[in-house]
Amino acid sequence: MGQKQLITLLGSTGSIGVSTLDVIKRQADRYQVFALTANTSVQALLAQVLEFKPTYAVMLDHDSADQLRNQLHSLGSETEVLSGLDNLAMVAAHQAVQQVMAAIVGAAGLMPTLAAVRAGKRVLLANKEALVMSGELFMREVRAHGAELLPIDSEHNAIFQCLPQGASGKLAGAGVEKLLLTASGGPFRQFTSDQLEGVTPDQACAHPNWSMGRKISVDSATMMNKGLEFIEACWLFGAPAEAVEIVVHPQSVIHSMVQYSDGSVLAQLGNPDMRTPIAYGLAWPERIAAGVPLLDLVKVAKLEFEAPDEDRFPCLRLAREALAMGGTAPASLNAANEVAVQGFLENKIRFTAIPAVIEKTLTAVAVEQADSIERILAVDELSRAIAEQALNI
Ligand code: NAD
Ligand code: MG
Repeated sequence: MGQKQLITLLGSTGSIGVSTLDVIKRQADRYQVFALTANTSVQALLAQVLEFKPTYAVMLDHDSADQLRNQLHSLGSETEVLSGLDNLAMVAAHQAVQQVMAAIVGAAGLMPTLAAVRAGKRVLLANKEALVMSGELFMREVRAHGAELLPIDSEHNAIFQCLPQGASGKLAGAGVEKLLLTASGGPFRQFTSDQLEGVTPDQACAHPNWSMGRKISVDSATMMNKGLEFIEACWLFGAPAEAVEIVVHPQSVIHSMVQYSDGSVLAQLGNPDMRTPIAYGLAWPERIAAGVPLLDLVKVAKLEFEAPDEDRFPCLRLAREALAMGGTAPASLNAANEVAVQGFLENKIRFTAIPAVIEKTLTAVAVEQADSIERILAVDELSRAIAEQALNI
């Protein structure tokens, strides 16, 4: 075994961050943590720093960083504590680092993730919102800086595993007809439109198969998660929208599939546990143990499939429309969704108002070319302001 790979974890206290540290702990001869980061979770980051002893710990929030620094100091830790967005980008781009896990939730992850891309790192991308906002520019930067982009979203990781190496952007040449993106359907898959009216945040966050952060849990319940993943798949694999099909598969055992022109369909299966795609990204092209129990197909017994219902789950249609509108429309979609989901989690709007807020925003915000980060961030900000207003109607 050669030298250990140094890793920065953006969003280490979240669901993906914790799963990543679990894999790293099992593979301590291969990987070492260089930096851990969080927004405001001082106690969670403190425990992680004491266990993994990174060179840096960065918190977006300055006061939280002060608290963390004081506590670590009194415990004799040598980890340097920094704060702010620039320092998140600094630890993502640091020359000592080989791999960056991009696991901040939402648009907040865009700049630090891009910093890792621009520094030519291996980037393990969980933060799908960054790619949805800036798809064309993001992929251009990946190519320009020779970054290695490995999808961690389980569906995209599955598709990556089922494609021949280097097929991204040349799917037709590789005989690919379709990318089949599977969706669990979320906790409300069988709810009627009337039942959807009354659902609560806690119901929305109780996913049948996956345990995740609250934002992505609500996205799964509205199926906006699949809408964002649809856009993510088009950018990651250079696929035209017509070549990506969503299939509802309630067991979440098949994580996605690739359909070829000779009639073959390749699928990646496994227990629904994010440590599988995380381990795959860390070790690619090798395979390492991830702590995930082996799949017992006899116990699974049944794999079912159905078509998605865009009438009950209009977020799917909105995502498709935003991608077709092009330019900054997906950034507007994402921003409005973040505001609407937060509004729902704070009991300001009903579950069924989420797509309404997004649709209002998409109608109100002019689509521009998404050719610079400044413009994308300006549209993100404007869309948030409009979506905030729409919360109060
Ligand atoms: P989470 O809410 O559990 O964790 C988010 C992390 O980001 C935390 O460490 C938090 O401190 C940090 N963070 C939040 N806001 C921040 C900000 N403004 N600036 C800096 N850091 C901030 O989220 P999660 O479920 O781990 O999801 C993370 C990302 O991975 C999301 O983009 C999600 O869509 C994606 N993803 C998650 C899963 C999953 O199973 N949880 C699966 C696929 C993709
Ligand atoms: Mg996913």
